[in-house]
Amino acid sequence: MYSTVLHSKMFSHTTRTNLIKRLQTEPFDLLVIGGGITGAGIALDAASRGLKTALVEKHDFAFGTSSRSTKLIHGGLRYLKQLEFGLVREVGSERAVVHQLAPHLVLPEKMLLPLYEKRGFGSILTSFGLKLYDWLAGVKPEDQRKMLTRKQTLKAEPLLQSSDIKGGAIYAEYRTDDARLTIEIVKTAFRNSAVPVNYCVVTNFNYEDQKITGATIRDDYNNTVFNIKAKTIVNAAGPWVDELRELDNSKKGKRLHLTKGVHIVVPKEKLPVRQAIYFDVGDGRMIFAIPRDRITYIGTTDTNYSDSKEEVRASKDDATYLVNAVNQTFSSKLTVSDIESSWAGLRPLIHEEGKSASELSRKDEIFESDSNLISIAGGKLTGYRKMAERVVDLVIEKYFEDRELKRCYTASIPLTNPGFSSYGEVEVFKRRFPARLVHTYGRATEQIVANASSMDLLLAELEHCMEHEMVVSASDFFIRRTGSLFFNIDRMENGIEPVLQAMKDRLGWSEDKVKTERQRLKDSIKLSGQFL
Ligand code: FAD
Repeated sequence: MYSTVLHSKMFSHTTRTNLIKRLQTEPFDLLVIGGGITGAGIALDAASRGLKTALVEKHDFAFGTSSRSTKLIHGGLRYLKQLEFGLVREVGSERAVVHQLAPHLVLPEKMLLPLYEKRGFGSILTSFGLKLYDWLAGVKPEDQRKMLTRKQTLKAEPLLQSSDIKGGAIYAEYRTDDARLTIEIVKTAFRNSAVPVNYCVVTNFNYEDQKITGATIRDDYNNTVFNIKAKTIVNAAGPWVDELRELDNSKKGKRLHLTKGVHIVVPKEKLPVRQAIYFDVGDGRMIFAIPRDRITYIGTTDTNYSDSKEEVRASKDDATYLVNAVNQTFSSKLTVSDIESSWAGLRPLIHEEGKSASELSRKDEIFESDSNLISIAGGKLTGYRKMAERVVDLVIEKYFEDRELKRCYTASIPLTNPGFSSYGEVEVFKRRFPARLVHTYGRATEQIVANASSMDLLLAELEHCMEHEMVVSASDFFIRRTGSLFFNIDRMENGIEPVLQAMKDRLGWSEDKVKTERQRLKDSIKLSGQFL
């Protein structure tokens, strides 16, 4: 049996039941709608400043865009081209902050940028652009960009097709796991007294004198409906932001413009790149190829989207576009049938008349309605902390000026407890434990490995996620807590039955519930390798 882990407060199925009771009975200062990175960041900021904060997520935490990004904590080199200096400065500088807050999960990653005779920018412009990028973000001298000759570029990545290469550059970014970063922020918000709950949908707003005073919530896990009272509500529902504005009858002026981005996953031997590469496709777009454990993932596309937000899928055209981009850049013969998995996400951007999908700004914006609903959309994973600060500053200024509340200090709240104080400490810890576990669970790895002496490692991971990460469905575990669907599909396929059995035993599931969960997992595997 799993022994209690001392390093963090329980955030389990049982905790969930208690938290639901609190949502039903206690009035809150702030209700945050949406358990993606934006909502999680806002809940942490607000709770740590002293606001009594609740967060509801209609599926699992990070179900939306926050588990379907390129998984980079990056400054957005491409936005320099659009002259978005303010955005690049903000998200660029945030990279080092987020790395410091979770050094086991936000890892330094050198990016190779090949330069071509006939596509992309010239060497002088690129050299200047990268210098500006480093300067805006305050990158440390030892990490600043290095320009490479043709020979050095091809040595760094022998898989590049050599004919058109004229040189390259190496510059600093960070990579992460977006869904894990989100759950760590949710857990940190919980440790700071927030009340975050998954599988709870806001179905209606409640009003007094035409001002919002709360919301009606449908708890899809327990099939119940209840009301929650909140002095203020922030709508951080990502691609669903406008749906909630419509529910509030306040969708006026600016509106969202959703664009779809697809990533494909191939076994490493099909595209054995040595390091992350950001390459020009020749049609004005740039694409990443990122090696990770036993796979390489490639993305992304950027196309207008107006279909179902609940089920976003990659099309054959998306897959073919990415496969062709790879084959024209590397000496590879990738085909669509080599793809073992994929994911597709929606960017919740703000519509700008006459602009194409790629031209739309990635900047965040806040909308306020007459009924006091505050909505936030746009932005990047990387900038979540600053977005949260802006929203909570506004909430406090408008509704809690009479209260003595702290200023934002999330830059000094580590995202794990106990955490690592530096990347060096992570490296030392990795000498004792497998890198995959350390990059996923941080210091909790120690307890998971100890428990794995009496049970299968997969089940020890599951136990940890059920006790400390509010996993209540097998998909939460395989897709968002471990990323197995994308990065280790064999482990997922082999683990389905033992995981379902363990969840059945722990959560008292009926045979019907097990059947539904099994089908859901099988559908996820099928759909991630199939194109519309
Ligand atoms: P979401 O993650 O979508 O969260 C909104 C949540 O609200 C959802 O989970 C949803 O279920 C919930 N919700 C909706 N309606 C309700 C309701 N009625 N009640 C309760 N809950 C509700 N940024 C980077 O910094 N780095 C990258 O590498 C990067 N790559 C990207 C690649 C792609 C393809 C895309 C699409 C985006 C990328 N981004 C990247 C941007 C980044 O991923 C997004 O800006 C960010 O994840 C948006 O988070 P969010 O919380 O606003 O939205």
